[in-house]
Amino acid sequence: MKAVYSPLLLGIFGLFVACSTAPEFDAVLANARIAEFHGDSLSYQSVHLALRDGRIAAVVPAAVAVPSANDTTDLSGSFVYPGFIDAHAHFLALGQALETVDLVGTRSWAECVDRVRQYVADHPEVAVVRGRGWDQNDWANKAWPTSHALDGLTDKPIVLSRIDGHAVVCNQIALTQSEITAATRIDGGEILLAAGKPTGVLVDNAEILLRIAEPSREEKIRYLQAAERWCVELGLTGVHDAGLPTGDIMLIDSLQRAGALRMPLYVMVAESPEALDHWLDRGPLETDWLSVRSFKFYSDGALGSRGALLRAPYHDRHDHFGLALRDTKYLKSAADRLAKAGWQMNTHAIGDSANHLIINLYREALSARAAKKDLRWRVEHAQVVSPEDQILFGKGVVPSVQPTHATSDMDWAPDRLGAHRMPHAYAYRALREANDGWIPLGTDFPIEHPNPMYTILAATARRALDGHPAEGFQTENALTLAQTLKGMTTDAARAAFQESDRGEIRIGNWADFTIFEVNLNDITPLALPQTSPTQVWIHGARRK
Ligand SMILES: [Zn+2]
Repeated sequence: MKAVYSPLLLGIFGLFVACSTAPEFDAVLANARIAEFHGDSLSYQSVHLALRDGRIAAVVPAAVAVPSANDTTDLSGSFVYPGFIDAHAHFLALGQALETVDLVGTRSWAECVDRVRQYVADHPEVAVVRGRGWDQNDWANKAWPTSHALDGLTDKPIVLSRIDGHAVVCNQIALTQSEITAATRIDGGEILLAAGKPTGVLVDNAEILLRIAEPSREEKIRYLQAAERWCVELGLTGVHDAGLPTGDIMLIDSLQRAGALRMPLYVMVAESPEALDHWLDRGPLETDWLSVRSFKFYSDGALGSRGALLRAPYHDRHDHFGLALRDTKYLKSAADRLAKAGWQMNTHAIGDSANHLIINLYREALSARAAKKDLRWRVEHAQVVSPEDQILFGKGVVPSVQPTHATSDMDWAPDRLGAHRMPHAYAYRALREANDGWIPLGTDFPIEHPNPMYTILAATARRALDGHPAEGFQTENALTLAQTLKGMTTDAARAAFQESDRGEIRIGNWADFTIFEVNLNDITPLALPQTSPTQVWIHGARRK
């Protein structure tokens, strides 16, 4: 039954329930104010939600008696939103980030080195010292760091990832173990040199050259469970992981089947020729907790490390256009295979040249298919997109964006792009309009903080956590609260082909809810980061 129960039916039904011994429902959330989207507007309805087998079994008007259940929670008018979904993140990496040297917010390279020194002293057990989060754009000296200061801290390899994951700085031990020298070359990557020697900085594909110990299975399980705890705490009821190798996907599946991991995940397979052969032969994997039917590709790097592929040179490096991470021929043949097999293709594209290439490559591969399948191929980030390419979104080519990237990058992006290209960047409203009025939203955690409230602040007010700029950044591309919430729920579900299952509070959908005591419409933008959900439900179970 898809409609809300009528009072008459409910009356009869209530009598029936009263006479029977076992309650009809597993759980009831009484006196809920549920959020409903109508087009681009948001309204609330007072109801009781009845759950059975992890799903919404009935939505009963609040004026009617509370249905009986094994377990009743009185929400006393709390605001119930469809469970928040992060449509682009790195779930395993979030857990791993918790066990690495945190370099986010450092003000200098010397401060990074100090934190590494402290970590080495505190963690004698680790085999590889990993850190992440440095950003030379935040330092007084904006030059790339060099590894000299790391040498002598430890006899273990040290690998420190830049905030965007598109560059690392490592010590000489890591370079030597990986046989990386001044003579090493790789397509789509750079090994930075000074006085003819590697400085320790590896950009984009050069990171693949590192040969240092992978985390163990036990460590990965710990990472996944830590990521789950943090996500639930923040109100997430689903995450799209933007690229994992097959081994990690199978580990997740086995943990979920054993009940040891209970976060619904939509996992993109990290592409490689072997992964394509394996999964296209095997077919998609679908359970109540996991969906695998897409591949993640990279077409370019990131803007901060000047790896994003631009159509005209960088404003602050005139001989440089960025890096193409994959050969176009390879991407084309992969696109043809995926279109034919009915898989979703999701490609990282930051620069306007990468976006131009991928949008057009998608359109060609999709239109070549006689049978017009609804494949929803995603352009991940769609960060700098020329106006003539922006309007090509829609009709099966979907922009997938992360609003906090706009407010994290806004202070230095003009250095890279120049003022003339800024209006083409972080243009979420324009992209949403081109895509027929929907857009999935994510954070790209751990590159950004996983808190979905930060996404709401960045998307609606276009302001950073500290409130700057007061007038908002390029607010012509701000989203409304309703558009933003829809992007984190209904649209995120749709980007994963799960709109018949989640993303709205509707009979038959999973009982996934993010619940606040306050109406999110009533919160001023700068109070959003201090607001957190009071309850979180996933597949019918209360988790917070
Ligand atoms: Zn990502």
